[in-house]
This record gives sequence, C-alpha cells and structure tokens, in this order.
Amino acid sequence: MKSLTLIVAFFSILLSINLQADMKKLRFQTVDANKTLLFQTGTNKNSCAICGMHLQTFYKTSHLSDTKNGPKQYCSLHCVVADADFFENLQVIDINSLKYISVTKAFYVVGSKKSATMSRISKYAFSTKQEAKEFAKEFGGEVMEFDGAYSVAKKDFMQ
Ligand SMILES: [Zn+2]
Repeated sequence: MKSLTLIVAFFSILLSINLQADMKKLRFQTVDANKTLLFQTGTNKNSCAICGMHLQTFYKTSHLSDTKNGPKQYCSLHCVVADADFFENLQVIDINSLKYISVTKAFYVVGSKKSATMSRISKYAFSTKQEAKEFAKEFGGEVMEFDGAYSVAKKDFMQ
C-alpha cells in the first residue's frame, strides 16, 4: 500500500513537471534560450532590471537600453516606464526577427488579443508598419509609434 502511494506521488510529480513545461512553451512571449540575446552580465543577466521577471520567458515584449552602468534589459515597456534611471538608445524586440530594433523605428501593436506583460494592454513591436498591420488584422489592436505605446504604458501607473 505504501509503495503504491509512492508510485502515485511519483507520477503526479512527473505530470506536474510536464504541465509546467507545456505552460512555459505556450506563453506567446517566450522564445528558445538559443534565440535570447542577453546584454546584461552577472547572475541576474536573464532578469528584468526592474521587476526581476525572467527575460527569456517574456522575450517578445522585452526592451534594451544603454545606461552609464552598462546595458539594461526589461521584460516590458511597463518596466521601461517604471525605470527612473537615465537611459538612451532604447530598443525593443521585433517579434518577427527576434532582434532588437530602435524604438524610434518600431511600430507597436497595442491592445491585441495576445497576452500582455506587466499590464492589461499588450504591446508588441515590429520593424515595419506592414507587419504591424498584418498582426493587428489577425489579433486585433491598434498600430502606433513608440510615443503612442509609451503613453498607453504610462496609464498603468495612473490608477
Ligand atoms: Zn519587468
């Protein structure tokens, strides 16, 4: 009887590990580790500089900036807004190429059905207006430039 309980416990642990792995895979923001570009260094290099969330898990909404103390990476535009540090050369992931591009050249789809990071309103970036429009056509949301997306992200802090 005891061994049966052990066997059941063993398999339920296995099952829950599998479920967790699947849930991680299912998250729209997540990419494979070998596609994750990390510019931060040290033990927290895979964590958002502000909230500490896992960067790889939220890679498709991540942002990158230069600061006096080196590069900083954020899980989301929300955490960029939250950062009081001075930064420049702000970049965002283009979700099609999975490369960082300057926010000054990015087109954001704001408010699509795809899940949001640290906010109720999702924001995903693209390197061309055409790609942003195609995404918005499929998943909803509004195409805007960085300033527009930034003002929407700022509203997270005004409640
Ligand atoms: Zn964050």
